[in-house]
Amino acid sequence: MEATVGTDSTRRAAAILVVLLGGAALWWLGGDGSGFAAGNGGSSATIVSGQMQTTGGNDPRLAGAHRFEDGGWIYVHLEGDPATVGFQHGYLLGSDIEDGFAAVSAGMMHESQRDWTFFRKAAHEMLWPKIDLEYQQELQGIVDGLRARTGSKLDVDDIVAMNAFEELPDYYVPWYNKQQNVAHAPNLKSPGNCSAFVATGSWTKDGKIVMAHNNWTNYANGERWRIVFDIAPKTGHRILMDGFPGVIASDDDFGINSDGLMVTETTITQFEGWDPDGKAEFVRARKALQYAGSIDEYTKIMLDGNNGGYANDWLLGDSKTGEIAQLELGLKAYKLWRTKNGAFAGSNWARDPKVIKADAPQFEPNNLETSPNARRARWDALLKENKGKIDVNLAEKMLGDHVDSYHQKPETNERTLCGHVDSSPRGVDVWGWTPYFPGGAVQAKATDSSMTKEMKMVARAGHPCGEDFLAKPFLAAHPEYAWQEPYLRDMKAGPWTEFHSGEAVASHK
Ligand SMILES: [Zn+2]
Repeated sequence: MEATVGTDSTRRAAAILVVLLGGAALWWLGGDGSGFAAGNGGSSATIVSGQMQTTGGNDPRLAGAHRFEDGGWIYVHLEGDPATVGFQHGYLLGSDIEDGFAAVSAGMMHESQRDWTFFRKAAHEMLWPKIDLEYQQELQGIVDGLRARTGSKLDVDDIVAMNAFEELPDYYVPWYNKQQNVAHAPNLKSPGNCSAFVATGSWTKDGKIVMAHNNWTNYANGERWRIVFDIAPKTGHRILMDGFPGVIASDDDFGINSDGLMVTETTITQFEGWDPDGKAEFVRARKALQYAGSIDEYTKIMLDGNNGGYANDWLLGDSKTGEIAQLELGLKAYKLWRTKNGAFAGSNWARDPKVIKADAPQFEPNNLETSPNARRARWDALLKENKGKIDVNLAEKMLGDHVDSYHQKPETNERTLCGHVDSSPRGVDVWGWTPYFPGGAVQAKATDSSMTKEMKMVARAGHPCGEDFLAKPFLAAHPEYAWQEPYLRDMKAGPWTEFHSGEAVASHK
């Protein structure tokens, strides 16, 4: 509680400071007079915000960009060259980026027991030099847009470190601690994010591809992971993906592009390894979604400079050919399976013996009690049961499924496709999630070949089953997670909502 009071006072002090600084700036700009006219009797905060919005709002870089909210999601349309796309992103999601940064950076530091300087240094020295020029420009653009909107003090090292929030704490830090023989290093484990499948041929209702995914993460981050990005970049394909404020890749990875490629993934549990000379995963993943038009092209981009960060089983679909694929992307080994008639599921397990041996040696594929393997068994049963009937409607239901295959009964816990680890006395040890960890399925998306041709997807904010997570009673029952109190919010489920590229305003009420 003390920490909360402290944070609140700090916030209040910061808010007052902003008002004072804003007032000073208006006074300084004085001669123009409009600021004063607008200010009579109103609060200084309003003037400041109005002044900033007007200034930024007239910026030619914002032409064509827009934002609206629907179904619990924030939709942003971004277009232009990399710096412009970045500027629009930073400007339209300004306060969301600052809020997301606070939650993500607190989690990274708490878990790794490293201060923020450590992550800034890793971003600056290790990641930045290997980032393609266009993404360097986009990341700098985010900083510029953010500053124009909120006056933020965050710089490009902060934004790059935040973009790597899936790969620095759980892949780089354990590798670094081992290299440096760090004493009393925390037992960091790669995350287990998500339940997903892609199916095609005789498995689906119309014989074409269906792809679906729910994102598993801690609720503090997950509640903020509800941006729909519609990006029309100057080069490459148009992109529609879900994402996190301030991050250039989808990062839980669900996206489609205008060349008909469909992309999602789930993370490899107990993955170990990192290549400091490689290219950040968030850069490769964004690049692959923007430039790949086929399964082969996607694979090639992901392999180019593979750093081992955020190692995933990628589930891919090419709506032009009806072919689907699973790319199990380890660092030392990888494997690609592909078919025009079948289904690939993911729930954080690796299946190629070579990948398991080389990259996830502690993973036990036969331990059916664990979340990844229990969900694997459930996916197998559920997909077989519904063979020939699978469509987006059914996919939505599957993503909210509550059958624990190990207990053979309906429950909400860490073994269900729609995860609720906050109700599990076991937690998920293989990811380092302690009992009742506030994490699980935080949102979900689905699409199919026909929708992809029209650049459409459906998405649901919050638990895909529709249940709400409420922070206050949870924290009262589990004081061991009190450190999250400043960041952990209610995660209310929204309705399944359709989004498409080029949408100007919420059109599905
Ligand atoms: Zn659920």
